[in-house]
Amino acid sequence: MARPSFQAAPGTRDLISPTTDRWRAFVALFAEEASSSGFGQIVPPMFEDMSVFTRLGEASDVVSKELYDFVDKGDRHLALRPEFTASVCRAFAENRQLTPWKVWYAGPAFRYDKPQKGRYRQFEQVGAEVIGSNDPDLDVELIAMAARFYERLGLTDVTLQLNTLGDASDRPGYLDALRAYFEANLDALSEQSRVTLQTNPLRVLDSKRPQDAPLIEGAPLITDHLSDEAEAAFERVKAGLMALNIEFTLTPRLVRGLDYYTRTAFEFVAGSLDSAQTAVGGGGRYDGLVANLGGPDEPGVGFALGIDRTLLACDASGVFPEPDTTVDVWVVATTGGLDGLEIADELRRAGLAVDRSFDHRSMKAQMKAANRSGAPVAVIIGADEAAAATVSVRPLLDDRDQVVVPRAEMLATIKELLPS
Ligand code: AMP
Repeated sequence: MARPSFQAAPGTRDLISPTTDRWRAFVALFAEEASSSGFGQIVPPMFEDMSVFTRLGEASDVVSKELYDFVDKGDRHLALRPEFTASVCRAFAENRQLTPWKVWYAGPAFRYDKPQKGRYRQFEQVGAEVIGSNDPDLDVELIAMAARFYERLGLTDVTLQLNTLGDASDRPGYLDALRAYFEANLDALSEQSRVTLQTNPLRVLDSKRPQDAPLIEGAPLITDHLSDEAEAAFERVKAGLMALNIEFTLTPRLVRGLDYYTRTAFEFVAGSLDSAQTAVGGGGRYDGLVANLGGPDEPGVGFALGIDRTLLACDASGVFPEPDTTVDVWVVATTGGLDGLEIADELRRAGLAVDRSFDHRSMKAQMKAANRSGAPVAVIIGADEAAAATVSVRPLLDDRDQVVVPRAEMLATIKELLPS
């Protein structure tokens, strides 16, 4: 087959039904979970002033290498969002809401990353953020919400990796210790990590290169550099998770891809994914970000889950299948008049899912389409039925007989035949 002239850009793809039906169900389930925990939805713009994102920390790859930035016709330097947290903080700073401000979101994010399975340039996230409270119970509530959501999807092999990154005031001491440690062992460090060390020693801990693994294993721990307050908050988070029976693995070298995190940091990892992309979600606290974006000095905490990757994990575990989108009724009309149009509309108004054939196809072709559709019932109207103001109603999935009923009794007859 000849290649089409245009293809979706690298790292992007078309989502088509029934995949889209599954995505919609995924977001609906998340929305339900978030609403029932007191979160309201936010739909921020997909692009922002470039500096909204550079405030996330220019030393992270997401900001320094992966931003889709552009200059618009008004000479503004803008960028497509690589995640939602910065937009949520900017929105809070701009719209000042009562705190704690609890929001959830769903939509695409964009990163100029190397495309591979589970890693795309346009990918979708759902997530939730709370601005305006320091209470570690909120960290626990957010994690619990994600855990309940995974449970509802049927994903049982997601593990929670938990760490604290300490307060902003704990960071310099820890960074010094890390820098000193890696510099003393520079020869053992990969070339890329040596570069990272110059700009962001914390990110060296995130290196997945095998050469770096033994060194990272012995690196200093943030837990030895915590202020009393940060330590107490972490203890409260752990106690809360234990009280809710949420298992976690302490992962003292877990750092997140962006630099703004303070205190609690966590990641959800799917055991069923065997690729390099096993993180299906992550989040944490960001206590200086709102102020950094020109807002009041309010703390924040949140998480985001990748839809693409979570669904890959669902596939690998054989859970959360595509929803059944089979219609209830297939309308077969051969009168050449408006009957097909009218009957389909009447039944749809009555709340049934209905489809039909077009292009004046033969009775045989239309019945074939009806059977192929999987619909449990067909409504048939040919010349005889039209003349007698009746319709034939035929069960398609079992051997019950077709019945001929007055048009006025069509709906009641169909409802009786439909599986409850
Ligand atoms: P992050 O803030 O980078 O931890 O992203 C949160 C979640 O979004 C990750 O755990 C992934 O599930 C998902 N994610 C991040 N980047 C990508 C990407 N390039 N392609 C697909 N999913 C992604």
